[in-house]
Amino acid sequence: MKKHFLPLILSFLLFACGNPKETNNEKLTIVTTTSMIADVAKNIGKDSVSVTALMGPGVDPHLYKATQGDLSRLQGADIILYNGLHLEGKMGEVFEKLARIKTVVPVSKGVDPTFLLSDPVFTGSIDPHIWFDVSIWSATIKEVLAIMIETDPDNEAFYEKNAIAYAQELTDLHEWVTNEIASIPYNQRILITAHDAFSYFGRAYGIEVRGLQGISTLSEFGLKDRVDLVNFIVEKQIKAVFVETSVSEKNIKAIIEGCQQKGHNVVIGGRLYSDAMGAEGTAEGTYIGMVKANVNIIVNALK
Ligand SMILES: [Zn+2]
Repeated sequence: MKKHFLPLILSFLLFACGNPKETNNEKLTIVTTTSMIADVAKNIGKDSVSVTALMGPGVDPHLYKATQGDLSRLQGADIILYNGLHLEGKMGEVFEKLARIKTVVPVSKGVDPTFLLSDPVFTGSIDPHIWFDVSIWSATIKEVLAIMIETDPDNEAFYEKNAIAYAQELTDLHEWVTNEIASIPYNQRILITAHDAFSYFGRAYGIEVRGLQGISTLSEFGLKDRVDLVNFIVEKQIKAVFVETSVSEKNIKAIIEGCQQKGHNVVIGGRLYSDAMGAEGTAEGTYIGMVKANVNIIVNALK
């Protein structure tokens, strides 16, 4: 194990064990930031791994800070998986330090960089919301599989078989989403959400996307943005806008009022899962269920 000087908050990690997995009678322990990443690991490892997501339902990853409890969970992990591309904007330093003593992998590493979208507001930044294009998200399977096999080679065949099956499920899901969105009349295919999480979705499935806030929920939503968006909705006669489970509704409600003042009635089409999945044990508590729930809400409201 390498020894480095670490700030006090992380110094106890020096006592943690490194990789690879040291015992065969214990489950491979994986800790992830978002629940979407946890779902990939669960689908590959099934019951033979223990997977914990630090960010539960309704949690906004852009603003999330690691708690004391998170640090000890991370300390106990064989593998740490995060999204990367600055999605977890406040955890970068934690991962940097953990990477000196642990296997820490950003799953976005598995995505072909030519498929990535840049952030239209902050030049040089990449849009981190890669899970909204199912075909892109599918590329993270390969990355997660590789690191699981490296850490736990005894289960290679089992992990590989599950990864292939899950990749096929995502291929089917991608096709389903494509067909569903195509069923919305062309000029009604406009998706307005609380923050700019859906650009990959828009590009993949042919729907125009506008967010009130920028790519990160940290960015401001100014008066001019509001006026522009109200005018856009009225002009295009858009029927519905959408709220998100992990973002405050305040701004989207102001937009609805602005439209009403101009004599155009726009409703909340539903609550989309943007940066977090639904509760564990529900259909929306899986990645596939989350995508399907979003698509059903969008299609019902815009069709
Ligand atoms: Zn986001």
